[in-house]
Amino acid sequence: TGTRVHAYRLGVLLGDGIGPEIVPSAVAVVDAALERAGVEPVEWVELPLGADAIDSHGAHTPESTLDALAGLDAWLLGPHDSVAYPEPHRSQLNPSGTIRKHFGLFANIRPAKALPGGNAVVDNTDLIIVRENTEGFYADRNTHAGTGEFMPTPDVAIAHGIITRAATERIATTAFELARTRGKKVTIVHKANVLKLTTGLFRSVCLEIAARYPDVTVDDFHIDAMTMKLVRKADEFDVIVTENMFGDILSDLAGEIAGSLGIAPSVNSSATHAMAQAAHGSAPDIADRNLANPIAMHLSSAMLLDWLATRNDDERLRGAAKRLEQGVAATVTAGTSTRDLGGSASTTEFTEAVVAAIHAS
Ligand code: ATP
Ligand code: MG
Repeated sequence: TGTRVHAYRLGVLLGDGIGPEIVPSAVAVVDAALERAGVEPVEWVELPLGADAIDSHGAHTPESTLDALAGLDAWLLGPHDSVAYPEPHRSQLNPSGTIRKHFGLFANIRPAKALPGGNAVVDNTDLIIVRENTEGFYADRNTHAGTGEFMPTPDVAIAHGIITRAATERIATTAFELARTRGKKVTIVHKANVLKLTTGLFRSVCLEIAARYPDVTVDDFHIDAMTMKLVRKADEFDVIVTENMFGDILSDLAGEIAGSLGIAPSVNSSATHAMAQAAHGSAPDIADRNLANPIAMHLSSAMLLDWLATRNDDERLRGAAKRLEQGVAATVTAGTSTRDLGGSASTTEFTEAVVAAIHAS
């Protein structure tokens, strides 16, 4: 009875704008990292999405793409320029929202990690925000009928927020599992002194889950105190778990503290599926000019390998993710970067430099 050999199958969704430049760049560095780590190659499955899919399939996110994704382990999603789609496509839920909803990707995982020489506000920042993606004041109107915003009169607007035990348990579990692979500390962010019932429930359910992880240190802060702490002491945090709106705000703050939103990665996941996605948009102003910085897509792909490592109990993938991250950091430290970071490398030159750095590591 030999060990099961995984041949991972990963989706490739190029998307719009700079997507067809940065997504293949990420594929190249993942291939290099897997080879260097001694892992068999993954199978890449390219699927239509975005403006091209509207032309070829009549939908920005064709049913055939969703069906194919269901059979894959995980995928890389390029950015989409959905404001440029012709109607009725522009008014529909956009491609990433469509995929998140279809697969119930409830966890938005947003790391903030300072790159050496990367203009961080707090050096050595290395934290991950685990943001609940379906509830709070941004509750999906289709999931929780009757929540969201409404106006009883033209001069009064009301927003409901929703927190449930089930959604809080699953996001807290995600955070504590992640903490076990890292610095073993989780910070719960809430506002339980004012929003006593909603964020109070969030806090108490997170603490219940914490009791199952005696090896992980836990603390908690009100959202306002948390912003004050982060701006000077971001390096003291490891995993931060919070509800939807607080997570939205904190992840922009943390991204900028770590250097720049422009290199910020993310993964959206459920227990069974994960999607790597750069935090930035499709940058149509620089598309097709070989100028785009692929770092956010690279680091999102490294996160995806980490997620796959945990999901499949395959530490080799964690090694590959480390090599990918180190290859990116070593390349920037050695003075090679794209124009947005003050360098002069093209997307393809930067990609080749990262591949070379991975092979030389
Ligand atoms: P969206 O609504 O899709 O998030 P946005 O309006 O926030 O889009 P982006 O597409 O993120 O805009 O672009 C904002 C600016 O940052 C643009 O000038 C763009 O060229 C630049 N930019 C974004 N991503 C990159 C990248 N990977 N490399 C270089 N420049 C980028
Ligand atoms: Mg944007």
